[in-house]
Amino acid sequence: MSQPSRIKQLDERTIGHIAAGEVVERPAQVVKELIENSIDADSSRITIDIERGGFDLIRITDDGSGIHEHDLSLSLDRHATSKLSSEEDLAAIGTLGFRGEALASIGMVSKLSISSRPLGTEGRKIVMDNGNKGKIEPAGVAEGTSIEVSHIFANQPARLAFQRRPATETSKIVDVVVSHAISHPEVGFRLVSDEKTILEVPAVDEMEDRLYDVLGRQAGKMIQISEPPGDSDAPGDENWSGWISTPDITRGKGDEIHILINGRPVAAQPFLQSIRRGYRTRLMQGRHPVAVLLLDLPHDEVDVNVHPTKREVRLRNSWRVLERLERSIAYTLESTPTEPESSGGITGITSLAPQTQERRVVEKPAWAQTAQISLTGDKPIDVKQKEKPRPISKSESSQTTITGTEAIAPALSIAERELHRHAGHDTEDIDNTEPLGPIINDLPAMEPLAQFADSYILVQAEEELLLIDQHALHERIRYERLRHDESLWQAQERITPVPLDLDARQVARLEARIDDLTNIGFVIEKKAAGFSITSAPALLCASELEPFMHDILLDMSEDGAPLETIEQRKDHLAFLNSCRGAVKANEKLNLSQMRRLLDDMRRIPNPWACVHGRPTAMRIPLNALDHHFGRHG
Ligand code: ADP
Ligand code: MG
Repeated sequence: MSQPSRIKQLDERTIGHIAAGEVVERPAQVVKELIENSIDADSSRITIDIERGGFDLIRITDDGSGIHEHDLSLSLDRHATSKLSSEEDLAAIGTLGFRGEALASIGMVSKLSISSRPLGTEGRKIVMDNGNKGKIEPAGVAEGTSIEVSHIFANQPARLAFQRRPATETSKIVDVVVSHAISHPEVGFRLVSDEKTILEVPAVDEMEDRLYDVLGRQAGKMIQISEPPGDSDAPGDENWSGWISTPDITRGKGDEIHILINGRPVAAQPFLQSIRRGYRTRLMQGRHPVAVLLLDLPHDEVDVNVHPTKREVRLRNSWRVLERLERSIAYTLESTPTEPESSGGITGITSLAPQTQERRVVEKPAWAQTAQISLTGDKPIDVKQKEKPRPISKSESSQTTITGTEAIAPALSIAERELHRHAGHDTEDIDNTEPLGPIINDLPAMEPLAQFADSYILVQAEEELLLIDQHALHERIRYERLRHDESLWQAQERITPVPLDLDARQVARLEARIDDLTNIGFVIEKKAAGFSITSAPALLCASELEPFMHDILLDMSEDGAPLETIEQRKDHLAFLNSCRGAVKANEKLNLSQMRRLLDDMRRIPNPWACVHGRPTAMRIPLNALDHHFGRHG
């Protein structure tokens, strides 16, 4: 007796529904697919109308090439596309779409109506209602294509139940439109939600103009990345360009990082780590910059056919490409002088500023004037020069703090707190440290006036009053010293080997990287009893060794592990150690110590940010004080 067959070939309709589930998860994805089609059709203007987060209606109108009458019905079939014709084409995809699935999938789960009129023809329209295709009919439409999607998921209650609220979906749709607007400055976009225009950007020639239209004022604060000189003849045809924010502008999430690969917006996640690394110690824990980064590389080095929604792509030489990005960012930041926000309107001290006064953000911070490129094209603001120099204050020799109140310590992240907890208590003897090398920063003459709350140094810097966070500054100075003092990195033999308590995964990582560790001064021996450290860089004391090793091993498990270089490890050690030994808040300093710190500021890169990315100083221009006290005529 023959068994009935248990495996059945699914019918086309069921297959279509399964595929639709992948391509059309939510209204924002529909918007994405339709915008991509309009861009592929060489449109110069795309209008997106949505109602109730797209759940009631999505309508996308473009002025592109249109769909010919005889293609209309076919465009709704699965795997029907005008964008590739053979398997070979898959290796070099230049269009955003290519799978021929979007319209078919959308038509499975909604009422989809396509009206189109290619140049020099009559308008035609076709409707597909939850998988049922209608007949082609005449339609009075402008040249181009208009696609309407309504009642999405009305016949898929399970899918509908898992949808976000309309407001959430609307913001997701804004994200989608913004990311496409950034990648295609040559196309004008207009997004209307529930009859309100929420984004409108005209077609422009230059990416800079588009960024300014989309990102607003903050675009003016971004700097253009450039490759380190040595990289121009590095192997590989990939090329990074774009803009990044200076370290003082950050976001809690990476969603203002836009990555375009050959003009296609892709998920930024795989790039976040390299970007952060490029910032070295300039970003606070858990913070991300704003960035628009364009990767151009030969089409056959990127596979876009790995994900139904094409947000993820695969790069053939991903490590190389990521390392290049990191180097470019690091180089760009090193070669861009950064200065603290000047509180021209004393915005930092809100309680002192008159409540009615609008936030004077119109005055750009000083670094924006010196940045390599200003996206706004604004001319740098002329700093008003006084004809008569004001007198320079002198501090009292028997200086005391000017307040008896408790010091206000800046808020620390959990990770920082942890770091400070482990930090030793011996403060570095500021007066007796080795000099830091030549003067590299052209800073104004600075005179310490007093210490406020034993935590902040008041400094007269020509026509500005600086409030310097002594701990933040000393941390930065120590970091630079530790990082560059070779003697501290010499392996120092330990009298008593420090045993390491490691679990199986840590052991595996350690064994895989033991040579790298030796290169930075750690000698680790394996005995029957387990591993122990017999030599370590001089800057680490015995009690720190084991926690450090745990940190390092944890880092090595990250995906970016092959990126780890000795230089980065040294950065990390210097970073962790810079806090230890730095003067604390609530610690009295004498004038000579303050002068020494100010002098060191001239000899280190990045004097304006501590190693955690917080500012070291706040500036109050004399002008602003005069203005505040009504002294301006
Ligand atoms: P794909 O974009 O992968 O080719 P789609 O299902 O998204 O698949 O679209 C099917 C076809 O319909 C496209 O290949 C294209 O020829 C045509 N098409 C869709 N939208 C438009 C549009 N806005 N303008 C011109 N042609 C379009
Ligand atoms: Mg498409």
